[in-house]
Amino acid sequence: MGARIAPRDDVALMEGYHSPQVSVDVRLNTNESPYPPPAAFLDTLAAQVRTVDWHRYPDRAATELRRRIGELHGVGPEQVFVANGSNEVLQTLSLTYGGPSRTVAVFEPTYALHAHIARITGTAVAEGRRADDYSLDLAEVRRVLAEASPAITYLCSPNNPTGMVEDRETVEEVLGLVPGLLVVDEAYGQFAPWSALELVSDNIPLVVTRTFSKTWSMAAARLGYLVGPSWVVAELGKVVLPYHLDSLKQAAGCIALDYLAEMEQRVSQLTEERGRVDLALRDLPCEVWPSGANFILFRPTARDGGEVWQELLDRSVLVRNCASWPYLDGCLRVTIGTTPEDDRFLAALREILT
Ligand code: PMP
Repeated sequence: MGARIAPRDDVALMEGYHSPQVSVDVRLNTNESPYPPPAAFLDTLAAQVRTVDWHRYPDRAATELRRRIGELHGVGPEQVFVANGSNEVLQTLSLTYGGPSRTVAVFEPTYALHAHIARITGTAVAEGRRADDYSLDLAEVRRVLAEASPAITYLCSPNNPTGMVEDRETVEEVLGLVPGLLVVDEAYGQFAPWSALELVSDNIPLVVTRTFSKTWSMAAARLGYLVGPSWVVAELGKVVLPYHLDSLKQAAGCIALDYLAEMEQRVSQLTEERGRVDLALRDLPCEVWPSGANFILFRPTARDGGEVWQELLDRSVLVRNCASWPYLDGCLRVTIGTTPEDDRFLAALREILT
């Protein structure tokens, strides 16, 4: 046996991405949809398996899927880039616009993968801080952008894990300040009252990323996209691996888009359920942050967050443990599930806290 080969020094020091996948009755830790896609979607997809030219590479440009996504958002296919989950979209952005001698800016606490992917791609990370209430502090944004001159500035709206939606004025203001690209991660965009998609145009350095993992009930498929200027999409196409998106997934994305009304129905159901869970949490000894997404951030006020997380797990309820994450001391994040799942979560939490 040969000696173990060391990875790149910075990779050796990394911890990687951790989100426990354990078998529990109630899984409310990864912000998936609690509902499967419509049965008719599955039937059509099953039939599609037989029509795929399995011996041929997929359409490298994913022409039909990009056309359909563009149609959904009122843009042409040249303004749409698709990949295996929005994480791969973010990675391709970082490979294209980041890299050695370049910097990305993030405002913590936010989605950990923005900084993680930057580092994996050899990009420096300039870390700004949100205000104590987790809102974006524009003075801090100005400071970070002036100091770091980032090639990519990330916003996340609704922000994971705080649930906060950036308003249009804030996004426009940041857009006026960025020296490079502004990426607005809208993985939870369908739950929010407005979308930065409204601002996308060929002469604005803004891209908006979205995913099929949440509202479209397709986390298993790994499909995400961005809408942005055509000149960005053209550059990304040079960087992403050839034939990266398989034929069946391209078809699955197109079929899903035929069920837009059902998706919107799931969104309104979950939004209503979010209101119910929010109210119930406010009845418990917890600090609760208002959410525009399909999850809620909360902090038990009289108990240690990590211990509460474990005691929920002991009752077969899994939520996200953010208790030791920077600036999220003692916080937990719960995904909105079905009503019975949320009731199980609330009953367990009530038992632990009262
Ligand atoms: N962005 C945000 C803010 C997320 O929370 C997630 C999922 N946790 C993603 C992107 C990645 O989603 P996916 O790769 O499944 O599209």
